[in-house]
Amino acid sequence: MNVNSKAQVIAAVEKHAPQIMELAKQIGEHPELGFKEYQAAEWLCGALTAAGFEVHRGVAGMDTAFRAELGEGEPQIALLCEYDALPEIGHACGHNLIGTASVGAAVALAEFMGQLQGKLVVLGAPAEETGGGKVKLVEAGLFQSIDAAMMFHPSSKNLLMSTSNALDAYEFVFHGKAAHAAASPEEGINALDGVIQLFNGINALREHLKDDVRIHGIISEGGTAANIVPERAAARFYFRASTRAYLDEVAAKIFKIAEGAALMTGTTVQWDKYELSNDNFVPNRALAQAFGANLELLGVTDVHEYKDGRGSSDMGNVSHVVPAIHPYLSVGEKLVSHTPEFAAACLSPKGMETAVLAAKALALTAYDLLTDGELLSKVKAEHGQASA
Ligand SMILES: [Zn+2]
Repeated sequence: MNVNSKAQVIAAVEKHAPQIMELAKQIGEHPELGFKEYQAAEWLCGALTAAGFEVHRGVAGMDTAFRAELGEGEPQIALLCEYDALPEIGHACGHNLIGTASVGAAVALAEFMGQLQGKLVVLGAPAEETGGGKVKLVEAGLFQSIDAAMMFHPSSKNLLMSTSNALDAYEFVFHGKAAHAAASPEEGINALDGVIQLFNGINALREHLKDDVRIHGIISEGGTAANIVPERAAARFYFRASTRAYLDEVAAKIFKIAEGAALMTGTTVQWDKYELSNDNFVPNRALAQAFGANLELLGVTDVHEYKDGRGSSDMGNVSHVVPAIHPYLSVGEKLVSHTPEFAAACLSPKGMETAVLAAKALALTAYDLLTDGELLSKVKAEHGQASA
């Protein structure tokens, strides 16, 4: 690898640093929920268009998704953007930095694409928090011609590789019969009892599940008044496990519990997915190591190598179709994501600095893939083995 060229890539990102920080701040201060990130998509696409990318909005049937490309031929390297926020606490997962870092890397690399063989593709993936965007991008075939995909995620630590769990989102609706809860309780069938027995049954099941499983739910409908026997009640759950196969087994057990809960309470029950499912994330080691080497080049030394992660991301679905990385970079120590403190960190000077650092590491790694055929072959061979 030509070290001078890498220095030029770093300098190009530095030149765009004010723009990267301004974008991260704009999106951070205007949080928009999943599939409604109109303003964020507008700003990110604006920066890409100005840098010479051909931008297609509204891809894969989602208004706020986009695909931008620059360059010719093979390979095709994808940088992924997220830009959705959480209800009430804004950008508490730092997606304002994710979209911005990928666009920052792309805008900086645009200067070199005329001299390089291959295509840089930026994919705007809405609604990560509700499990949607990348699942739909995969289903619509947007990764078919892509050789490798990457993004970064803010965190409290620098971490090259983390797995994530497969996830299913299920809603269970119990139906009973309304009655006056005091005057004629014998006429009622309590749908809320079905929900409560579902929770109890799941809690009994936990003892017999593998350690990687996570099951967590809320009662989303629990009746309307204490003196009316609830005729309808509902619960929403996320089920997670480290493999799709085991998650399917766990889900089958829970469906039996739901049937049992209905049987013992005289209610009826139906269940359905209320969000798209995520697959477990399989990090590409060769690509993660290339990203790590670039972090080292940038002077970042406190980098953890690997962790078994128990959260979930729609990046998991991407990792099953193309080699992918989802490394983490710190926006401050001891922070917990999905908290107001994390949102503040992702708008702080340190957060802005992390977005620029991420843009540099992503740009350098994309540059590696576009110029180092041996690395790309290694990355693709590992993915071929993992999915065989
Ligand atoms: Zn996130």
